[in-house]
Amino acid sequence: MKRKNLLSKIETQEIWDVIIIGGGASGLGTAIESVTRGYKTLLLEQHDFTKGTSSRSTKLVHGGVRYLSQGNVPLVFEALRERGFLQKNAPHLVSNLSFLIPSYSWWSIPFYTIGLTIYDLLAWRLSFGRSKPQSRTKTIAHIPTIKKTHLKGSVLYHDGQFDDSRLGINMMQTILDKDGIALNYMKVTGFQKLNSKINGVQCKDQETGKEYYIQGKTVINATGVFVNSILQKDNPNAKDAVTVSQGVHLVIDREFLPSSYGLMIPKTRDGRVLFAVPWHNKVILGTTDVEKEVSSLEPEATNDEIDFILETAGRFLSKKPTRKDVKSVFAGLRPLAAPQNENESTKEISRGHKIHTSEAGLITVIGGKWTTYRQMGEDVIDTMEKENNSPRTHSSTEYLKLHGYKENVDFNNPFYYYGSDTEKIEILIESDPSLKKWISEELKINKAQVVWAFRHEMARTVEDVLARRTRALFLNAKESMRIAPVVAKLLAQEYNYDSDWEQQQIEQFNSVAEKYLLK
Ligand SMILES: Cc1cc2nc3c(=O)[nH]c(=O)nc-3n(C[C@H](O)[C@H](O)[C@H](O)COP(=O)(O)OP(=O)(O)OC[C@H]3O[C@@H](n4cnc5c(N)ncnc54)[C@H](O)[C@@H]3O)c2cc1C
Repeated sequence: MKRKNLLSKIETQEIWDVIIIGGGASGLGTAIESVTRGYKTLLLEQHDFTKGTSSRSTKLVHGGVRYLSQGNVPLVFEALRERGFLQKNAPHLVSNLSFLIPSYSWWSIPFYTIGLTIYDLLAWRLSFGRSKPQSRTKTIAHIPTIKKTHLKGSVLYHDGQFDDSRLGINMMQTILDKDGIALNYMKVTGFQKLNSKINGVQCKDQETGKEYYIQGKTVINATGVFVNSILQKDNPNAKDAVTVSQGVHLVIDREFLPSSYGLMIPKTRDGRVLFAVPWHNKVILGTTDVEKEVSSLEPEATNDEIDFILETAGRFLSKKPTRKDVKSVFAGLRPLAAPQNENESTKEISRGHKIHTSEAGLITVIGGKWTTYRQMGEDVIDTMEKENNSPRTHSSTEYLKLHGYKENVDFNNPFYYYGSDTEKIEILIESDPSLKKWISEELKINKAQVVWAFRHEMARTVEDVLARRTRALFLNAKESMRIAPVVAKLLAQEYNYDSDWEQQQIEQFNSVAEKYLLK
């Protein structure tokens, strides 16, 4: 996993079969598909893996109850099937979570039970369990802090829950396990062309500033909300293919939802759904859907979005969360396939994916969901084979166990998300027992995790460790800032860097983390 070994491989490999731009769900999924079909595969990410939208989801592996109510049955069918595959391929990261839809009118219980029974039936053999109406007494027993006035009961249904950036890291490791290369901090800055056809990329190492010119038979644009800017590097007149919509989440303590059940509020003021989901030792509330003009790697929540989430959640919980209860606030940008009808609001745009090939041969994947990343990757590589008139290969990813695969994981164990790597971290601790020491007892992060992240998960910075290898920044921004100096020191020891580097890292992390604090 040493960066210098990976860099020397890109210097010596003459021509790659497939170069993928973007290390989020779409790019990582496409790279796994490509490498497992026998193609020499290189993935380039400008920042860290899953730095973009793919670390900022609601953490659900789901068919999308909302899309069913919009009548988008094919999308729900596809997502429920993919939910089932993902749970089988990464059982250490995807858990079966029970949700309650609270009912304050008698009619809504049969209404949602029928709708959710259709949802269950669409999942067919990959069902996570049957939906059932629940009495008022049972509803309160499951979620003691639910608002009780006028409560009639609820409907219970099942969906998947996961840790998005941890899945991304395991996907990156799967690419390497299969002899592909995935590099973070390598920004694609332009294309190389021969006879007007793309035959490679120009990219810049964000750590050293060194430029590389890499040849590839096919280049794939999987850059999420940055798709348009990459398309314009190929053709300055390219039309926008992506519309951007922001979604915000707030993280609060478990005392507001002291339960293993999630809460799904089926109709918010703006006609969406809102989730309250137990995640690690906290609860995530979200999300919103607001059109944005500008794409950014660190989008920021607006006061309106924050107030909307607090107000909506407060109407369904006995103790209303307030701004001072928020431990972390994070925003993500949805890359939505630009609609034909410009007047369509972002919440009406389909979450399905589209694939498009430019005149110069750049294949772009647009839209989709975390849940459907595997199908997106399969469709991209099928498109590539068709466009190149190359022999058809067959996908094997439906049953591909991802790095870290482990059955019968105890999700109450704070280290569950390492899966089969847990034992290797224990061996690391045996070799140096001082690594067992907590850095944050509250967030259950020890020193060994930092060393592990650097040596085996391609973490390069304090932010990589605290935002995406562990989820400290997303769970409690203030606590993550408190522990940043210890993480900086451990990384500096690994790199053999001096105290200036440590200080610079702490400052860089704090400037990002400030945005996750709610003042
Ligand atoms: C608020 C919200 C909640 C969501 N909740 C869920 C959910 O619960 N379940 C679900 O299934 N889906 C959910 N989604 C959808 C899901 O998160 C996205 O569909 C998915 O993460 C998009 O992945 P991506 O790879 O296309 O984009 P990204 O994750 O943004 O990845 C694109 C990557 O490209 C990189 N890049 C850009 N330009 C360059 C360049 N020049 N060179 C190299 N790299 C470059 C970026 O740095 C970025 O890392 C949610 C989305 C949002 C916004």
